[in-house]
Amino acid sequence: MRKIAGILLVMATFLFTSCTKAPEKSEEYFFAMDTYMKIEAYGESAANAVSQARACVEELEKLWSATDENSEIYAINHGEPPELSDETLDLLSFTLEMSAKTNGAFDATIYPVLTAWGFTADEHRVPDESELAELLKKVGYEKVLVDGNKILLEQGMMLDFGGAAKGWASDECARIMRENGVKSALINLGGNVYALGKRVDGNLWRIGVADPLSESAENAGIVEVCDRAVVTSGSYQRYFTQNGKTYGHIINPKTGYPADNDLLSVTIVAEEGKLCDVLSTALFVMGREQAERFWRENGGFEMILIAKSGEIFVTAGIAESFSSGKNVHIIN
Ligand code: ADP
Ligand code: MG
Repeated sequence: MRKIAGILLVMATFLFTSCTKAPEKSEEYFFAMDTYMKIEAYGESAANAVSQARACVEELEKLWSATDENSEIYAINHGEPPELSDETLDLLSFTLEMSAKTNGAFDATIYPVLTAWGFTADEHRVPDESELAELLKKVGYEKVLVDGNKILLEQGMMLDFGGAAKGWASDECARIMRENGVKSALINLGGNVYALGKRVDGNLWRIGVADPLSESAENAGIVEVCDRAVVTSGSYQRYFTQNGKTYGHIINPKTGYPADNDLLSVTIVAEEGKLCDVLSTALFVMGREQAERFWRENGGFEMILIAKSGEIFVTAGIAESFSSGKNVHIIN
């Protein structure tokens, strides 16, 4: 009798632990689109979903890399416009629409200027005024002509999806997760984060917002989210310094110079990564006052602005979800 009870106890313990065992975690860490990426997902179908998501990111990189001679963007930029793939047409029309909406603060034709600053080949230099003035003649989203699945660019014009591709790819990853039945995942494509569902312990995902002034990579705060993309742009990660002056990789298309205003970083929180990616870049170019105005006039997203003064500004919609040891101003 005692023996049977013992066996039953062992079986019950086994059943209990197997029922309450945390869902299995699958993750992949890889380098793509010129940055480090990490995708983690939980549950039975997670492993399959994670490898599909990674493959998808790698496919999109092959299409959109501006430096890979076999990419579609490279072909467009070097005068042999191919029949555009559906993915490229979709991203192109999204970036053109957002360029117009942000009044050109985002401009996917900035590439000739970016190249002159040496950001594309990591050979940094400061171009002179006249060189920039010439190159700016080759910049302008409104000059891009799309006819069916063909694109027409003036001689010397070039496209660059560097400010939008990672956000777009994060949405694709989230779609793949959902199609595979994954309920909990954290997709981090070089700082373009998509938090799917909640953590397996039922809590919201906690996403750190970097403190651009911190030398030890501390966070300025943490935003708690579920089913949201969180994307930060700033010039504190990719920049170079010459004669004591710092030049970042986000260019103001109106001047041809790296954006340099009262902001250190812009974090956008919204349902879609593609919107977050484009807006974080555009609002960083705009500066605080214009960024706040853009938010009031357009809505559809929330944001966290970190100013050069060290102050943090957070829109009312996520003020409750944002915690920081610092003084936070609320944007209404
Ligand atoms: P990161 O790619 O470092 O995460 P962003 O999303 O802000 O940062 O994108 C910056 C990239 O976008 C640049 O490296 C460049 O390829 C491109 N870019 C720079 N300035 C602009 C701009 N004003 N509009 C559109 N794309 C830009
Ligand atoms: Mg961006």
